[in-house]
Parts: sequence; structure tokens; C-alpha cells
Amino acid sequence: MPTQYKALLIELLDYPRKRILQSMEVTHCPHAVFFNDRDEQCLTCHQGMECIWMNQNDELVDVNEKSVAELKQQLLIAVDFIDSSLSPHHLSRRQCQCDNCVWLRKVQATLDQ
Ligand SMILES: [Zn+2]
Repeated sequence: MPTQYKALLIELLDYPRKRILQSMEVTHCPHAVFFNDRDEQCLTCHQGMECIWMNQNDELVDVNEKSVAELKQQLLIAVDFIDSSLSPHHLSRRQCQCDNCVWLRKVQATLDQ
């Protein structure tokens, strides 16, 4: 069931897409969050990683074109972002039911498949 698995991975990108966009200071970006690798402002921006991720995974990108391996890679990056945005409080509570922790567990279970 490779296609079904792929669809699941794509579905999981939904949550970090919203979260990362929320956490970014979009109003301070002179490029409206379009990463430009020739712009020095982009290269030194503290939101560079988030921005690149968004540019590779937002709704304008046809994520169906990506391979399962690529999708997994993008999910792992997103896990890092969500993970680092959580206080240790969440991490110590294995049964935390907040959206972040629920998503993290879902990704973990999916990637382990
Ligand atoms: Zn939590």
C-alpha cells in the first residue's frame, strides 16, 4: 500500500505547515515568506530554516511529486521544529494530549511503519 502510506505522510505535513507559519514573523519578512537563495537577507535570516521548509512544503507545492523518502525527510525536519517549540514539560509527559504531542506521536508511529 505505498500510495496509501504516501497519502498519510502528506496529511501529516498539514499540521506543521500551519504551526510553522504561525510561529514565523511573517510581517517582518520583506519577501512575504518566499525564500530567495540569492538574497543575503534571506541567507542570514533567523527564520531561514522555517522559511525554506515552508517554500518546499506549502500548499502551492505539489507534494505528491515528492517520493516517500523525501516526504519522510521533510516530516523529520518538521518534527525538529515542533519539538523545539515545546517546553520540557510536554516531553516529560508521555501522554500529553496537546495538538503538538498528539501530532508528534502520530508522526513517530507512521515513520516506524
Ligand atoms: Zn504537549
